[in-house]
Amino acid sequence: MRKKHLAMTLSRLKGFSSPKPELEQYRTPGDVAAEMLWLAGSLGDIAGKVVADLGAGTGVLAVGACLMGAGRVYAVEIDEHALAVAGENARALGLGDCIEFLHMDVSKFSETVDTVVMNPPFGSQSPHADRPFLLKAFEVAGVVYSVHLAKPEVRRFIETFSVDNGFRVSHRLSMPFELPAQFFFHRKPVERILVDVYRFERLTVDGTPV
Ligand code: SAH
Repeated sequence: MRKKHLAMTLSRLKGFSSPKPELEQYRTPGDVAAEMLWLAGSLGDIAGKVVADLGAGTGVLAVGACLMGAGRVYAVEIDEHALAVAGENARALGLGDCIEFLHMDVSKFSETVDTVVMNPPFGSQSPHADRPFLLKAFEVAGVVYSVHLAKPEVRRFIETFSVDNGFRVSHRLSMPFELPAQFFFHRKPVERILVDVYRFERLTVDGTPV
């Protein structure tokens, strides 16, 4: 599969039917998801691996990981309506057996995995909403991909927080991210923001990548 094709397939998936602002339910646009998954695939972090999508929403990243050859994917999501849509999306592409859907708070997830792919809440509704996601990802995986706002203060936080938790940023790609006007507090039809897609890897005790 080519990256463009992956982006198109993911952008055609069913979205949130009634997005909940308090959970920051913005789906990852197909091009951003494809960029993340393509990087992960090229670095050997997806094919045949056990992957977790924390805050899976309607399953864009979980489905994408399966399309890229993941061995098994856990889709962890607190909102059962979103998870039902993720299930529909996976089945529509014949990927129902690749994904295990877990209806729970990310902090309760307890499997060990190779790779986490996630687009957590950015924390614009409740500050630091991304922290439990990063903490859990750093607890269960050796390699973590995540999306955050491309702002100097966020970058500083992410750098420090990852090192404090035994990880380092190995890659960072900045990309435009289109937010549809799905919430009443958005004034423009499409809000274009800039995000950073990160890859983190676990460090050994002497500070080298595992
Ligand atoms: N990863 C999806 C959705 C991103 S929106 C995508 O790429 O399209 C963030 C998601 O995290 C939402 O679906 C929201 O319901 C979920 N979420 C927020 N807090 C959560 C928590 N504490 N535990 C599990 N899921 C949570």
